[in-house]
Amino acid sequence: MTSRRDLIIEEMELGPVWRLRGTTGGAVAESGAAEASLEPPQSIPGVKNREGEPPLVAPDTAMDTGDRATQIARMAWPELKHAVASCDACALCKTRKNTVFGVGDERADWLLVGEAPGAEEDARGEPFVGQAGRLLDNMLAAIGLQRRAGVYIANVLKCRPPGNRNPEPEEVSRCSPHLIRQIELIRPKLIVAMGRFAAQTLLHSDASIASMRGRMFEYQGVPLVVTYHPAYLLRNMPDKAKAWEDLVFARRALRSLISGAAPAH
Ligand code: SF4
Repeated sequence: MTSRRDLIIEEMELGPVWRLRGTTGGAVAESGAAEASLEPPQSIPGVKNREGEPPLVAPDTAMDTGDRATQIARMAWPELKHAVASCDACALCKTRKNTVFGVGDERADWLLVGEAPGAEEDARGEPFVGQAGRLLDNMLAAIGLQRRAGVYIANVLKCRPPGNRNPEPEEVSRCSPHLIRQIELIRPKLIVAMGRFAAQTLLHSDASIASMRGRMFEYQGVPLVVTYHPAYLLRNMPDKAKAWEDLVFARRALRSLISGAAPAH
């Protein structure tokens, strides 16, 4: 059945909406990797869909589905913060200076999700500081947002991979329950996945950022858009314009959803 939100998105030509198939109520991590593929949008009379375009197929992803994930899924904010601060569930605990839990408005409409802390974040225990953080702040300001007002910022990994290497699948698997619980507690109206790892983790997809930009996805009922990570933009300045387009796209979608549907909380 097509929801009012889906119709609004389609009428704005922001669709199609892609959903994870087979996920239920709780965390993506608990839904079963075998079912974690993206299903195409429903056909809406009079609305042009991307017919013929194959759905993004998620790879098998070994997520942490044991007792630990179940316990994390029941935590309130204080317990969750303590769990992250004392976490030794993967080898990154041995090399980190600080855990980087996340920062911002715990009832935010916007949730921005990045990859993992860098050196400065590790030193300060806060996500998106330094040059990339300043760029992000400027981008948020350009669409009328501030990082602590109506916005929450978190990473997939809460500890820094040494030398800023890419996160390992095992690290993502072990740390994902923390992010999943943050999302459940915040209940944002929109998620912006910044960079490949954030998008791939939340959507269980191995698709490229370029192919996911400009589309509306959904994570556990929350609209999700994909854009570049600010650290990537610092190295590829011409793509800043694309990131700007993505944020404008996200803002337009959120405004329409808020004006067209009853607030979720
Ligand atoms: S990266 Fe995540 S799972 Fe690994 S030690 Fe840090 S908090 Fe724990």
